Amino acid sequence: MTVVVTGAAGFIGRHVVTRLQDDDRAVVGVDRRPAAMVGGHHLRSDLAAADPAVDAVLRSAAVVFHLAGSPGVRASGARATRRRWRDNVLAGARVLRVTPPDVPVIVTSSSAVYGGARREGDTLRASREDDVLRPRGGYARSKVMLERLCARRAAAGGRVAVVRPFTVVGEGQRPDMALARWLAAARRDAPLVIYGGGTRRRDLTDVRDIVDVLVRTWTRGCDTTVNAGTGRPVTLDTMVWVIAEAMGSALATTVEPAHRDEVVDTAADTSRCASLLDLVPVTDLHDVVARQLAVGSWALAGVSA
Ligand code: NAD
Repeated sequence: MTVVVTGAAGFIGRHVVTRLQDDDRAVVGVDRRPAAMVGGHHLRSDLAAADPAVDAVLRSAAVVFHLAGSPGVRASGARATRRRWRDNVLAGARVLRVTPPDVPVIVTSSSAVYGGARREGDTLRASREDDVLRPRGGYARSKVMLERLCARRAAAGGRVAVVRPFTVVGEGQRPDMALARWLAAARRDAPLVIYGGGTRRRDLTDVRDIVDVLVRTWTRGCDTTVNAGTGRPVTLDTMVWVIAEAMGSALATTVEPAHRDEVVDTAADTSRCASLLDLVPVTDLHDVVARQLAVGSWALAGVSA
């Protein structure tokens, strides 16, 4: 039986496909973008539309890792709203409807559903899976809607797990994400644009740990919601400093206002991940920066999401 990975051409999806293939699983990737899969099968299709070929692989899957979606909080306007509705809600609804109830669907939501971690003095209160959700902006709301669809599947007796990744870093990172943007700017000798100021904190999670969380959620049969984060957020200033160390030069920065939907801080409570999966992600930022510098973003020339 096959393992299906949606969003297989994306940043995290490619890492998931590679890991599963390393584990000798037969993988079918689904994405509307092309992907070069060595030894697997890639279906190029839009999950929001009916496609008998996609339905057939979902119906015969051993597990579905659902990563397809439109990420990023900064876009706004009618186009962004339509795209998120199609890719984060309709596509997810289709995957959840077509996949048989006894087949686990591991759905990638987002830490954005929490609306950020609250500051208590100088410390942050880490976000817990059973917190009341306070989504800020269209992206976060679309992920909350996706989670509601998951809850509906579970209530009807279907198998489903929700993983909430915190800012994912590592080779192949999307070029719109801060670390990738800053590395590209540093290479061009251009100033690094920091949105909202350097004291903001992000729980940066190594993509290798995200893959571990996703795969263990399946292999351990966890039909629940779990954070995928380190619980040890770092400031944006720290990220810049690590890049400067790696480049061996001082870097110019400029601060611009943050988008209204960008939260100030993020931090994951890791206790559920630790107890269910025996895993607490740990990010070595120096190592991640070195890896991203070595590989860069996996650009897909001429292909847009
Ligand atoms: P990505 O944009 O690199 O990958 C997403 C992939 O999904 C793309 O290849 C895109 O073509 C595909 N896709 C989107 N809509 C589709 C559709 N309707 N039909 C078929 N394919 C479709 O993004 P990523 O960073 O790899 O994120 C993967 C998932 O993880 C997303 O759901 C995202 O919201 C979530 N997430 C990412 C992060 C992060 O830091 N990268 C954090 C939290 C959650």
